[in-house]
Amino acid sequence: MSDAPLILWFRRDLRLGDHPMLTAAVASGRPLVPVFILDPETEALGAAPKFRLDLALAAFAATLARHGSRLILRRGPALPVLEALVAETVAAGVMWSRSYDAAARDRDQAVKAALKARGLLAQSHPGSLLFEPWEVETGQGGPYRVYTPFWRAVRGRPVAEAAPAPATLPAPSVWPASERLDDWQLSAAMNRGGAVVAAYQRVGEDKALTRLEEFSAGPMAAYAADRDLPGLTRATSGLSENLAWGEIGPRAIWHRGWRAMAEGNAGAETFLKELVWREFAWHLMYHYPQLDRASWKPGWETFPWRADNSDAEAWRRGMTGEPFVDAAMREMYVTGRMHNRARMIVASYLTKHLLTDWRVGLQWFADCLTDWDPAANAMGWQWVAGCGPDAAPYFRIFNPAGQAEKFDTDQSYRRRWIAELTRHPGPEAQSYFAAVPRTWQLDPARRYPLPRIDLAEGRARALAALQQGKT
Ligand code: FAD
Repeated sequence: MSDAPLILWFRRDLRLGDHPMLTAAVASGRPLVPVFILDPETEALGAAPKFRLDLALAAFAATLARHGSRLILRRGPALPVLEALVAETVAAGVMWSRSYDAAARDRDQAVKAALKARGLLAQSHPGSLLFEPWEVETGQGGPYRVYTPFWRAVRGRPVAEAAPAPATLPAPSVWPASERLDDWQLSAAMNRGGAVVAAYQRVGEDKALTRLEEFSAGPMAAYAADRDLPGLTRATSGLSENLAWGEIGPRAIWHRGWRAMAEGNAGAETFLKELVWREFAWHLMYHYPQLDRASWKPGWETFPWRADNSDAEAWRRGMTGEPFVDAAMREMYVTGRMHNRARMIVASYLTKHLLTDWRVGLQWFADCLTDWDPAANAMGWQWVAGCGPDAAPYFRIFNPAGQAEKFDTDQSYRRRWIAELTRHPGPEAQSYFAAVPRTWQLDPARRYPLPRIDLAEGRARALAALQQGKT
């Protein structure tokens, strides 16, 4: 029966190297049929993640073709699509890499049960994380709630080496039919912004690996200090975009980081710690599946957040009149990414100075980020808003003007992104106006808006709300 193929169900693992599921599939000696399913969970993604997926799928299909294989595309709920493919190819079963968010877990459990009930092979593998969320436990048992002990618990753990990509993938004698990627229109919701954002993406496994090498050989050394300066464009790895769709695996990054540390690279440990923040986010998401919906800390569901409002709309449009905040929001709209410090500042400004529910911001990020990651996004928003695990206390309110003085001393970040603040704005500042919807009626020649709220007033209002929320 070893000529009965295996269906390889790819999801957020669009690579060939450091891929335990693929290693197991190749070892089986069977022909392999890679498939990506545009299921309802994927259709529900925001505009930018879907657009980035479009690019990732095209790159992955080309990689598979170079290895003698193909990417079969099908649309519909996962189980009936897989059952149809199994029937068409007379496959022995289906393999996939695990996902850890609630919707994916429910779907995968149902798929596994149904396939097994029919006597088919249904196998899930690790690959997206360094450590399976249930394998890391506190001394008392149960999940970690605080990052530092989590880091201490995992830093010395053995992590298997990243396997190289297989040279070729055995093909079936007859390929099942595939839909056309273009017909899926995954980039449609980006409208005219798509062409602008596309220029900032480094798509696919080869580019991700090059990125890791370039970063490790250069900026990593100064990472501990430079990672906080949003005016520097290459101070961080940029790998979140590739990790989001699994174009690179965390083990390859982990081992490269440890090698750099052994070679005396001064930034390596800080970098590894950041990678472990990603692990921590998924650890939390696995153990607290509502992380993207409900406040993690008890008592915070009664906090008097404002629902969506016109201040939040100004925030979304990069028109709050607070230059650091607006620079960051425009950076996201143009590049699909935002510097980490800037993410903290805009999240703090929205949830504290504008007193707006963190879920309003979380949703906008989920629509605009090409590196959108459900766990890192949810943890980031809850952390800043003060209601999350290991959170910054609510009364610690970032002052965006003070943060700008400290981390954007030469104003390069604000000047790069806000056309209205300079006499001769650069192409990036101008491209914002070419990316946003025409209905917003933004014009770089117009006066920059006055601040939406006085910072001291906003701070006082936020602290008063905290008192109210606590009583
Ligand atoms: P580097 O500094 O090079 O770090 C290497 C890797 O470590 C990153 O690629 C990422 O995988 C991980 N990492 C670094 N910082 C964090 C962090 N604070 N939390 C979790 N993982 C981290 N990250 C996302 O990948 N997707 C998101 O949707 C996302 N939303 C966020 C929302 C908010 C409100 C905040 C405060 C942070 C969010 N982050 C998110 C985390 C962080 O901002 C990005 O991971 C980082 O900016 C990515 O840039 P980089 O790849 O150059 O990171």
